[in-house]
Amino acid sequence: MLIGAHVSPAGGLPKAIERGVEKGCRAIQIFNQSPRMWRPTTYGEGDVEAFRSAMQDSDVDAVLIHAVYLLNCASEDAEIRKKSLTSLTHSLRTGARIGACGVVLHPGSAKTGHVGRAITRAGKTIAKALSDSEGCDLHLENTAGAGGTLGRTFEELAQLIEAAGGDERLGVCLDSCHLLASGYDIRTPAKMDEVLCQAIAALGQGRIRSLHLNDSQTPLGSNRDKHANIGEGELGERGCGAFLSAPPLQDLPCVLETPGHDRSGPTREEVQLAVKLRERGLRARSRSRRPAAQ
Ligand SMILES: [Zn+2]
Ligand SMILES: [Zn+2]
Repeated sequence: MLIGAHVSPAGGLPKAIERGVEKGCRAIQIFNQSPRMWRPTTYGEGDVEAFRSAMQDSDVDAVLIHAVYLLNCASEDAEIRKKSLTSLTHSLRTGARIGACGVVLHPGSAKTGHVGRAITRAGKTIAKALSDSEGCDLHLENTAGAGGTLGRTFEELAQLIEAAGGDERLGVCLDSCHLLASGYDIRTPAKMDEVLCQAIAALGQGRIRSLHLNDSQTPLGSNRDKHANIGEGELGERGCGAFLSAPPLQDLPCVLETPGHDRSGPTREEVQLAVKLRERGLRARSRSRRPAAQ
């Protein structure tokens, strides 16, 4: 598992690698444009080249792009859908240029409208973004289930993938905080494995392609999206370890999106803690598999 953090590309794309290295990351995630503005950032060829060579020279082996939060591919408003499509397509093309393993997208929100129709609209927007781009996967992120957000269950994520045409480039990003908040108890290895079985049964093999590790400020089934620092929330250190050590997830990139102690994002210490909790989780699993001493 490649563990790392969400980092800022402020000052140019290669800066994101620099920040990732400072934090001891094996994987990073960036916004490819200002998260509160529709205006896309187009990186020059030099910036992309510098990013790729900085990555090559570093221990960072995976990069994810997070699509900005303004997007709502399921909106009833055709203008918002059009803007979302433009932005998502741009993110996918940028992902292909910088060698990202995927663009992570919150699938959208039905607001107070009909959920089935919202899934159909989101699917159409996503399918068009895929057909207007190539070379980069799209990972739909499971949501905490606040308001009308789509993707709160594995079944709903499967419906979204189907509505988007089931393309090979479609995958899923599992967020540990959102899992707990949407009602999936993942706080012990046995429970985590049971939840993953449900996920794979609904989504099929090979769809889970990236991970977000966040602790949760709010309890199981609260449907609220409030990230806590690792070990300081409802998952706790053991819950985070159970998530990180699940066997089917071991080849995936996993990034922290925690507030950090000074609200400036995950720290190097927190990334190291996650690495340690995964190892602890793996050891606990191998102990529990060993037959009891005679
Ligand atoms: Zn997330
Ligand atoms: Zn979140």
